[in-house]
Amino acid sequence: MDKDLLRHLPSVNQVLDEPSLRGVFVDHAHDQVVAAVRAELDEVRGRIRRGEDLNGETSPSHLAQRVAFRLSEDYRPKLVPVINATGIVLHTNLGRAPMAEEAAQAAYQASQGYLNLEMSLETGKRSSRQDAVREWVCRLTGAEAATAVNNNAAATVIALRALCRGQEVVLSRGQLIEIGGSFRIPDIMAVSGAILREVGTTNITRLADYEKAIGPDTAALMQIHTSNYRIGGFTKSVALPDLVALGRKHGVKVIDDVGSGALVDYARFGFQGEPLARDSIAAGADLVLFSGDKLLGGPQAGILAGRKEWIQKIEKDPLMRAFRLDKMTLAALEATLRLYLNEERALQRIPVLSLLGTPLEELHRRAEELAAKLASLPGVHAAVRSDIAYVGGGSLPDQTMPTWLVEVHADQFSDDRLAQRLRTGSPAVLGRLQNERLLLDVRTIFPRQIEMVVEAFRQLV
Ligand SMILES: *Cc1c(COP(=O)(O)O)cnc(C)c1O
Repeated sequence: MDKDLLRHLPSVNQVLDEPSLRGVFVDHAHDQVVAAVRAELDEVRGRIRRGEDLNGETSPSHLAQRVAFRLSEDYRPKLVPVINATGIVLHTNLGRAPMAEEAAQAAYQASQGYLNLEMSLETGKRSSRQDAVREWVCRLTGAEAATAVNNNAAATVIALRALCRGQEVVLSRGQLIEIGGSFRIPDIMAVSGAILREVGTTNITRLADYEKAIGPDTAALMQIHTSNYRIGGFTKSVALPDLVALGRKHGVKVIDDVGSGALVDYARFGFQGEPLARDSIAAGADLVLFSGDKLLGGPQAGILAGRKEWIQKIEKDPLMRAFRLDKMTLAALEATLRLYLNEERALQRIPVLSLLGTPLEELHRRAEELAAKLASLPGVHAAVRSDIAYVGGGSLPDQTMPTWLVEVHADQFSDDRLAQRLRTGSPAVLGRLQNERLLLDVRTIFPRQIEMVVEAFRQLV
């Protein structure tokens, strides 16, 4: 142990006075910096006692640098941007839909200043914050009225509570879904106060099953899109127009939870069977529910569209206040919906649509470009290959899409370790680990991010 070195360690104040530490006082309170200096000095003392050779690392300026680094590590923000190289377009753990530039700008502006959130500038009187989305949802779906809440789970709870509490809601056993987390239809039904009346079987439910269940306590017939699973083989379910006709005959409402909120026909991307809210409204559903941040490609929200009478009743429910959207989300949702006024523009501007619509040859070209750049780094090996991917976010579970990816290895790291270093790097890059290989799917890497991925590797090797 070098007693001299210990005795001559700089004092806390000497380190604090280092000019290179001035910057950290912008982000940190004095006591946070002092604590970091003490921690650094303690660590250095420990290393000296263990007899480590610290050649020169005990100077005030060196210690100050270490303190600045320690502060930046200890107080790292929890949320950071991630480059999504998984190929999963709607990745729930990565925030589902990336928003359009127009939507992000609208949210930014709404947050930076004041806006007419609940005021008609025409009359100077109070208005509803729902006006920002009502008209656009109505135009795009053909509904009479519309409103929006925090997410589709909230939309389901408030609809069932406002319209069906204490009464029965008839639902096919084949549609008793769990979306993930704690969203299970029987539980949602229970918290809403509506009474679930299951009919049919897992694979087969007929119109007669619904009809037999209708009685004096029935408030609604409900249909829920099985967004995240499919039942194959010998199955039967009831088409919405038949359900609507049955509801009309008995004077009960029909509620359709279409889930993903596609506003354009996804058949254009090769995906079949994704319901459109517009079709449900046209078929006569009284209320249609869907998410804002799945296939619609906007911010997290739950949209309710349908008959004015029911929308008004929902808006009067006390839960509306608890579930209402904030100004930034409303602004982003309005901007996203307005992009759909011209479908061609929506296809170009809404990232979920443009990512799914990127031609395969273009993905191949980007994969070749990325692989060539990565392979030019020392000790990095990259090869291009085609594969299949899923949309994700609990949407289109049984339908795959072809894609191109880059398989990477680095001499310095195992693939596992490489993946971990990329995740915690800056920028963070999340690839797909498949059969212990690290794959970078270019479908979800925005073109402007290709260089950033290369830079992330450059920093590692
Ligand atoms: C995703 C989904 C929900 C839940 O929507 P969130 O917006 O995630 O709350 C409800 N119903 C269906 C059919 C869904 O696909």
